[in-house]
Amino acid sequence: MHDTPAEPTPEQRAALAWTQSARFLTTASQLNQLPPPGLPETAFVGRSNAGKSTAINLLAQQRRLAFASKTPGRTQHINLFELGPADAPDARWADLPGYGYAAVARDAKLRWQQVMADYLRNRHALAGVVMMVDARHGFTALDRQLLEFVMPRVGVGEVKLLVLLTKADKLSRNEAARSLQQAQKVLGEIATEHSDIGITLFSALTRQGLGDAACTLRAWTPSTPSA
Ligand code: GDP
Repeated sequence: MHDTPAEPTPEQRAALAWTQSARFLTTASQLNQLPPPGLPETAFVGRSNAGKSTAINLLAQQRRLAFASKTPGRTQHINLFELGPADAPDARWADLPGYGYAAVARDAKLRWQQVMADYLRNRHALAGVVMMVDARHGFTALDRQLLEFVMPRVGVGEVKLLVLLTKADKLSRNEAARSLQQAQKVLGEIATEHSDIGITLFSALTRQGLGDAACTLRAWTPSTPSA
């Protein structure tokens, strides 16, 4: 599906200007190395190869921002980015390690699963989670497991959730509609009346869903009015 995306609306443009302020802050291999919670944080999660780095780089309009997490030795770190004016940052993004990568040893996988579970369950500053899911595959068992970590907080409205069905350009229009419907069904089953859950088809290639994703992210961390 290669629709030409509509021109961004003024609201989307403003939201994208904000996402493009993202810059690298720090990296942590353990939760206690993260800076003390202060600014609201949005976590990006997804199976490895789901398109997480590509999506972050596109939102930030920086080709290599999220690829820091791909350099050897850093794949299992949490990378933090800061957003907003340089002298008055108003939000952080946390790029969590991609999961399900076959080559990672079992011990390391288990350790990391624990760190992610800990982060998602306990990180006080966590305001929202963006989950990247390959639109061709839908939610995998590991995605569902990760959702379980965070659903208690999503269910009470403490943490928001946005699912990006990535690589939508690889699907026909009908296939994309079906993928969206199936994923919505899964989310409908776990949502409560208090949860704030969004989902959109997303493509880094066509930019489908980019403006909407930026608006959602911006709305999660309302901050200083732009003077
Ligand atoms: P990550 O492991 O989740 O960070 O995944 P990457 O961002 O590295 O993407 C994995 C592969 O999918 C790369 O080859 C990307 O170029 C490709 N990819 C990512 N997003 C898209 C997309 O929207 N459309 C298409 N066609 N390919 C994509």
